[in-house]
Amino acid sequence: MESPVSFDYAPAPESRAVVSIKPKYGHFIGGKFVAGSKHFPTINPATEEVLSQIALAGKAEVDAAVKAARKAYTATWSKMSGKERGKYLFRIARILQERAREFAVLETLDNGKPIRESRDVDIPLAAAHFFYHAGWADKLEFAGLGTSTKPHGVAGQIIPWNFPLLMLAWKIAPALAAGNTVVLKPAESTSLTALLFAEVCQQAELPAGVVNIVTGDGSTGALIVNHPGIDKIAFTGSTEVGKIIARAVAPTPKSVTLELGGKAANIIFEDAAIDEAIEGIVNGIFFNQGHVCCAGSRLILQENIAEEVLDKLKKRMSKIRVGDPMDKNTDLGAINSKEQLLKIRELSASGDAEGAQRWSAPCELPTKGFWFAPTIFTGITQSHRIAREEIFGPVLSVLTFRTPQEGIDKANNTPFGLSAGIWSEKGSRFFGPANSFALE
Ligand code: NDP
Repeated sequence: MESPVSFDYAPAPESRAVVSIKPKYGHFIGGKFVAGSKHFPTINPATEEVLSQIALAGKAEVDAAVKAARKAYTATWSKMSGKERGKYLFRIARILQERAREFAVLETLDNGKPIRESRDVDIPLAAAHFFYHAGWADKLEFAGLGTSTKPHGVAGQIIPWNFPLLMLAWKIAPALAAGNTVVLKPAESTSLTALLFAEVCQQAELPAGVVNIVTGDGSTGALIVNHPGIDKIAFTGSTEVGKIIARAVAPTPKSVTLELGGKAANIIFEDAAIDEAIEGIVNGIFFNQGHVCCAGSRLILQENIAEEVLDKLKKRMSKIRVGDPMDKNTDLGAINSKEQLLKIRELSASGDAEGAQRWSAPCELPTKGFWFAPTIFTGITQSHRIAREEIFGPVLSVLTFRTPQEGIDKANNTPFGLSAGIWSEKGSRFFGPANSFALE
């Protein structure tokens, strides 16, 4: 007789009652919300529901934001001691912690990532980042950077959609700690938590103009990059746009930092603890739907364990729960946008066309929204597009090797150099000169 007991998961949906989304947003300039002139919709990628209308900043708005940032820099922020600046950062960190649930729900609605990740990773890390840099604000002179550390002035900051609030924290917290003021543009598909952060700046009574947030698309980003009133550009996003920015700032006195793409390798040697490695592989590529610049998107397996690893990996992938990002049981949420889904599909189709074998975890994908099942490709050669180009989705490319040197050579055969992993019992394998990664 069949057991009547079911061990299925019951849905555990997070409530969205904690957030209130306005039907339309403006920009945050000089400490105030100002109305935008043009707007575009922002949607929930899991349902395609329009959440709100986001303002598109043109020249006048970017100009106003840069002027407000300059005024705040000259009149207030650059004159303030590090200790005083630190107090504001501590206050922002505390408010982020206090409003963490609101931020987590809003992030998940706007981005499509599982609530478990926004609740346990994005928002706590964003608060921690402000706490960390609050502690630095009064210590920069003693950090071994020389005695006359000085800010750049006004920083233009352009961020992507994969970790919206966390990327904002990575940009704004250190800039403010070091005495800069900022004009930040979030990605067009994920502006809502940046706009809620603007409210936090008001709540923390941050002096007007120290943080300015203008929303918009790539054209707004370009206006920031090319604005003569900006002293420093900080950008995270695609390699293509990074190149455009590098070209634009090269003939100017602006400083620039660029954090671009990756195609990281996870090398698994025959002596690795396989079950642990499987967890590492799964986290490496399926965390945050694979929308991670340092995702372990290439798996490089020693040939004699390839079959065992792939068997175990497929079993583990079959347990990944794909679906409603607001459900606390969900492991893999929605792809952030239709454009990104099309890009993942196009690159995966190139894998099929070039002769690789596709395997996707059996799962029921929702009918609305943007979804892609966790997928691996085997039978890949190093020249395949899916072995070379960043897919930025839940797709893993698997290659094999026989000798350690072959494994290392394959791992290094990429123009990217953001991160890498080695799984082995032997310390000598991690540190041996023959096995060092060439991270140029
Ligand atoms: P982009 O590089 O296009 O976007 C990143 C940010 O730059 C966004 O705020 C974007 O605005 C803005 N932007 C776009 N064009 C310009 C421009 N000409 N001048 C200044 N700013 C600009 O990345 P996407 O969001 O389109 O993602 C595409 C790919 O980028 C991904 O598939 C992935 O490979 C990579 N990526 C890497 C990330 C990383 O962490 N290293 C993060 C995200 C993406 P808008 O959003 O309005 O277009």
